[in-house]
Amino acid sequence: MCGFFGVVGSENSACHEIYEALISLQHRGQDAAGIVTHDDRFHLKKGNGLVRDVFRLKNMERLTGSSGIGQVRYPTFGGSTTEDAQPFVVNYPYGIAMAHNGNVTNGEEVKNWLSSQKRTILHSSCDVELILFTLAVELSEIGDLQPDSESVFAALKKVLERVQGAYSVATLISQFGMVAFRDPNGIRPMVMGSRENSDGTLSWACSSENIPLEILGYKNVEMIKAGEAVIFLPGKDPIRKQLVQRAHNPCIFEHVYFARPDSIIDDVSVYEARRNLGKQLANRWNERGLKADVVIPVPDSACTSASTMAQHIGVEYREGLVKNRYIGRTFIMPGQGDRTSGVRRKLNSIRSEFEGKDVLLVDDSVVRGTTSRQIVDLARAAGARKVFFASCSPPVQFPCVYGVDMSTRAELIAREKSEEQIAEAIGADAMIYQPISSLRKALKDAGSELHYCAACFDGEYPTPEVTAETLSAIEACRLGEQEKLKEESAEDMSPSRG
Ligand code: AMP
Repeated sequence: MCGFFGVVGSENSACHEIYEALISLQHRGQDAAGIVTHDDRFHLKKGNGLVRDVFRLKNMERLTGSSGIGQVRYPTFGGSTTEDAQPFVVNYPYGIAMAHNGNVTNGEEVKNWLSSQKRTILHSSCDVELILFTLAVELSEIGDLQPDSESVFAALKKVLERVQGAYSVATLISQFGMVAFRDPNGIRPMVMGSRENSDGTLSWACSSENIPLEILGYKNVEMIKAGEAVIFLPGKDPIRKQLVQRAHNPCIFEHVYFARPDSIIDDVSVYEARRNLGKQLANRWNERGLKADVVIPVPDSACTSASTMAQHIGVEYREGLVKNRYIGRTFIMPGQGDRTSGVRRKLNSIRSEFEGKDVLLVDDSVVRGTTSRQIVDLARAAGARKVFFASCSPPVQFPCVYGVDMSTRAELIAREKSEEQIAEAIGADAMIYQPISSLRKALKDAGSELHYCAACFDGEYPTPEVTAETLSAIEACRLGEQEKLKEESAEDMSPSRG
């Protein structure tokens, strides 16, 4: 999952606005950050690390212009090299810059098609290049030196037909404007909004979440629809077009884990959805007839649900685990070894909240089980008598092919295991999961009529190209990437022979 923000017509410097936006989207990726702005040409700065580490004042001064896009990156699989940092810029058939959030599921097919066009050479393993070059080729077919809105829409329609998967994209076309578009199933989120400048003109922005728009004073914030493209030309009203019509299946995991609780995604409050998850999980707990002295959340994503759950089961909610906020999400570190030590560095316990008590730990999800196993150990080391573990989401049983880091079935702890077996594997006295029907109900009760993509829980992938066969091929490719990474890190660790 990544985060991006794009703006046209900013009366302040676009770069400063984007910087602020990326800081507020940092939870969506801590691996790399980048900004490209445009005046009479593109100005780009990107690199590995947090937003505050990538940008210095001198970089910002160079990024001039009233329009631009920025991105924070979270790698889903593969390496995390600087070449993969976004945005990407091409000069063919004219300047185009692009940033995205998502994952292409027919990458090999698109690569083959692009190489048959003999007009492009890919420089990275980042999916956005596939979308960018496909758009570049389609625009070049039109042949004009300067595109108009209709030709851009026509080219984008072809992109949406050719490139499968889940993606929200912000792109800048030199001497034209900004274009935002969302995959046909609207799996990845995107919103837009406007702000009045002091001279009465409007600046327009698009973003993965509404938070930066709120912080920067944008109004009339609304979602960009599944399969829709929006063209933002400086000083004009946006032009919107529905390019492909399919069912809208947004990612349910945004509500479970990814988005900030103060976000509204596809018109649904993440906070409300998480409160409902807690309420539903309380029902499950009561059904199981278990008893605890205290409910302790795994900070941060689980806090909202855990406090609601505690209220509904009539058990005290206590913050027994303290998170060090100054290290990135441990999940993001490559290699299981790094991940393990990271969890312990990230969380510490308050002994008095555990000692001699039956403790119910609540987390948003259990994926590989690494985090939960260590947290259970932490709870026992802090003197807990019994340790129960509850997951606000159902067992993760299938890999996400749409941009969340759950790469292969083999590494998912819940795969082919009962709640009892999972409890044993993580060392808990009992384990409870949210049933999938309750997860869907939580979203419905928060006001959504949409049928969410919950493929990681139920294996129902909403895009037609994902079949049992393609899923296995995607997994095989990911395993290959993981092997390569292991070899590379082993080489890095070996003593220098020089
Ligand atoms: P695991 O240790 O693999 O079971 O990971 C589960 C923990 O990581 C939970 O505490 C979640 O809050 C968090 N988490 C779940 N999914 C993701 C993800 N895709 N990226 C980063 N962190 C995640």
